[in-house]
Amino acid sequence: MKPKLIADAMLGRLARWLRLYGYDVIYGLVDDDEILKIAEEEDRLILTRDSGLAERSRRVILLRSNKLEEQFEELKNFGFTFEELFPPNARCPKCNGLIRKAEKEEIKSKVPHNVYAKYDEFYVCTKCGQIYWPGRQWNEMIKIDRKLRNKNKRS
Ligand SMILES: [Zn+2]
Repeated sequence: MKPKLIADAMLGRLARWLRLYGYDVIYGLVDDDEILKIAEEEDRLILTRDSGLAERSRRVILLRSNKLEEQFEELKNFGFTFEELFPPNARCPKCNGLIRKAEKEEIKSKVPHNVYAKYDEFYVCTKCGQIYWPGRQWNEMIKIDRKLRNKNKRS
């Protein structure tokens, strides 16, 4: 089971990536008291780089680095695992909603014509409606994905 998380306001990029790996991450709150309260109520681990905030709770992971790749290494040391990016396992990086496969017909009016013509694989966020497909942006993400997951592997 993946732990549920809440990330502080400085960790937006990390939060979006963790959602892509299927982690349930609340992000966007700036008030420490609110973060602590929700962590307690919803049994979430707090991700933060703020030692002041970290001292106020036991359910905290204090990150040292501000670089995404190094933050992933830190999380691996805490036992986090990351499987290959694959949309049905992902959560929406924008809103943390669950993502499901979409029928091509269903998204026809919602994507540009050239995109509709070129791709057959589409996914939609069940919460905010954002549509995803394996285009250029996706391929860029796959490249970063490989880096994040395989940093310490030698092959
Ligand atoms: Zn969404």
